[in-house]
Amino acid sequence: MESVIVVGASLAGWRATEALRAQGFQGSIALVGEERHLPYDRPPLSKQVLAGTWPPEKAVLADKKRSSELRVHEVLGRRAVRLDVDARSVELDDGSTLAADGVVLATGATPRRLPGTDGLGPRDGLFVLRTLDDSLALRAAVTAAEQTRVVVVGAGFIGAEVASTCIGLGCRVTVLEVMEIPLATILGPLVGAHCGSMHGAHGVELRTGVAVEAIVKGADAPLHVRLVGGEAIDADVIVVGIGVTPSTTWLETSGLTLDNGVVCDDMLFAADGIVAAGDMARWMWRHDGEEESIRIEHWEVAAGAGLAAARNLLAGRDGATSFTPVPYFWSDQFGVRFQVLGSPRGDDEVELVDGSFEEGKFVALYGRTGRLRGVMAIGRPRLLMGYRPLLQAGCSWDDALAHARS
Ligand SMILES: Cc1cc2nc3c(=O)[nH]c(=O)nc-3n(C[C@H](O)[C@H](O)[C@H](O)COP(=O)(O)OP(=O)(O)OC[C@H]3O[C@@H](n4cnc5c(N)ncnc54)[C@H](O)[C@@H]3O)c2cc1C
Repeated sequence: MESVIVVGASLAGWRATEALRAQGFQGSIALVGEERHLPYDRPPLSKQVLAGTWPPEKAVLADKKRSSELRVHEVLGRRAVRLDVDARSVELDDGSTLAADGVVLATGATPRRLPGTDGLGPRDGLFVLRTLDDSLALRAAVTAAEQTRVVVVGAGFIGAEVASTCIGLGCRVTVLEVMEIPLATILGPLVGAHCGSMHGAHGVELRTGVAVEAIVKGADAPLHVRLVGGEAIDADVIVVGIGVTPSTTWLETSGLTLDNGVVCDDMLFAADGIVAAGDMARWMWRHDGEEESIRIEHWEVAAGAGLAAARNLLAGRDGATSFTPVPYFWSDQFGVRFQVLGSPRGDDEVELVDGSFEEGKFVALYGRTGRLRGVMAIGRPRLLMGYRPLLQAGCSWDDALAHARS
């Protein structure tokens, strides 16, 4: 292999680039990115960068020096619009084409928008949060005046982090959540209710079981959120945090299988010579004798996938290995860190094995079909990490409970 194109200049794409060089790859690497920035980290965008406690430069993953050390041909500010799988060529939005022996797909995910809001954006006070530019524009908007009225649509992790940061900036914050209990589909009703209670405890008004019907420009307030049922809520700034969709539109004519992500085998191959990594990849996750087609939107998985995809690309299908991480993510909100290992689901059996909700520090185990499937903790990082090998080994539910009692 003499040349590789990495499409998507962010976490997964950058980790793949680094891994190619770390594996001794001497050929050319073209890094194509729609954003003008060199790769940077997204987690601080809803936390330190939005809060203003970090300058944006602190979030960089790759600076000019590192990029030139790794002999990266940067193609930034350019969107890939088409992939020819047989030729392994990528057409860009300026009409030019790059071709290579191998391609890493790492175009991540795009925030969902509310229907009917196409004509509205940051200038009107309506935001999503995915990019550094989104974060800086949102910070400018919420700090433009005292007590900005911020409405966050969606009480998922991004929504809760934005609410937490904005309340810290002195804003008046309302969070609207369509489910009765936030995060219940991931963490179950008990833990979800605890997470929801943190909003109120920190001065955020959380309204659950409410659906947004429309966002309209107002006369006496910049924006109104109209709820199903007719109630209108005034806002200076609205942040929509209702999830993301994988950025695969540009692959629609490629012939690759797209199904809520680009479909890959267990080694992250989407086709011969084409691998995918990060938020846009759906791959066959083989673990504890089972297999599942999954797509995960977590920092650690995207970073690990970038590395694994690059290694496997160089090794070829015959020498490649399965990508089998124990998924992990964290979220910082209201002064605490949530940490989740594995793949918990809302209908799992849940057992609190350490601490308590009252204390605000605990470890919860999630089990289904006789196995430990996930662990969630607040304020117990070391205890949590003790479960990683158990999850990796496919530990039974009974053994996990016994481990907790030991
Ligand atoms: C605000 C925020 C906070 C987060 N906090 C946490 C956290 O606390 N913990 C955690 O575990 N995870 C967190 N995440 C998730 C984590 O950041 C993502 O999982 C990670 O960024 C995924 O990396 P990626 O490289 O797959 O995709 P992305 O980071 O989305 O990067 C994809 C890149 O590809 C570019 N691109 C897209 N389409 C094209 C195209 N056609 N041509 C060229 N370029 C293209 C995009 O512009 C983008 O730069 C957070 C995410 C956000 C947005």
